[in-house]
Amino acid sequence: MFVAPKVFSQQEAVFSLELPLQLPCTLWRHRFAPATVTGPLVVVISGLHGDEFDGGYICYRLAHFLQNLPPGWTLRGTVHLLPNANPLGTNISRRFLGFNQSDLNRSFPGVAGGSSEEQLAWAVYQEAVQAEVCVDIHSSNEFLMEVPQVRVADRPRLKNLAQELGLDLVWTHSPQHWIGGTLAQALFERQVHTLVVELGTGRRLHQLWSERVVQGILHLWVRLGVLQVNTTLPILSASYVADENNVFYLSAPQAGLLTLESGLQVGMHVQAGQKLGQVISPTQLTQAALYAPVDGFLFTLRVHPLVYEGSLVGRVVRE
Ligand SMILES: [Zn+2]
Repeated sequence: MFVAPKVFSQQEAVFSLELPLQLPCTLWRHRFAPATVTGPLVVVISGLHGDEFDGGYICYRLAHFLQNLPPGWTLRGTVHLLPNANPLGTNISRRFLGFNQSDLNRSFPGVAGGSSEEQLAWAVYQEAVQAEVCVDIHSSNEFLMEVPQVRVADRPRLKNLAQELGLDLVWTHSPQHWIGGTLAQALFERQVHTLVVELGTGRRLHQLWSERVVQGILHLWVRLGVLQVNTTLPILSASYVADENNVFYLSAPQAGLLTLESGLQVGMHVQAGQKLGQVISPTQLTQAALYAPVDGFLFTLRVHPLVYEGSLVGRVVRE
């Protein structure tokens, strides 16, 4: 009878920050490894924005899987999970940090011995930079809803890895347009393969979508040799591949309240000229309709009704 090698797991506090009037805040890492490591090290980071919680759930599910490997599955590589990379923000459900509302995901690679935010960024970066492949999980902010998707720098190897997740969309960006100070940009400069997963909405949990991401990450880890399984896995691939030329942005034509057409949901196919909704102004008693710019897949949709002129309402990748 086949007996899978034991998986050793360890929870470790890798960094801690003194807070003015509180106990220190701690960055936790969960490590999983077999007795004899023959596969690569992979890292999952979640919660860089303190109002995004899907990644924490996904890390929990991955940890549970690794602690209870089903028959036929073997761990070959090393897995590090950081389920809560921004403990200063998540505990109060705040996207940004501290007095000055700084964005941790614009602070990388961080500074050892710098400000609290810079130290925290440096600690997270030191964890992530060890990875063969790093998955950085985000939800959207509280204004938008995103179908499960992955964003990568426009490099063939990264596109191939992103496809292995089997999410709805792979969105590639040329590295010079990647936002400076993000973990992904800092890791790209160190040639660490980084997949930025995005799903759902801030301050919400999307369990079904999160389960898809869990399955996608396990699939990726099998392809990387982190996990071994004695059955054949299905080939996963993204439904859509977006780049900087085939994504169309829907913007609010005026300030007011957004009302969507009945039944319209993120993840739907839309046709050029199809009415998607309207923005009404209760004070000026005006309205302005919104139409789909092209035939395509609606992968982002606003869920917060308040808009200013030009606010992002949705994104469509052309079919
Ligand atoms: Zn985020």
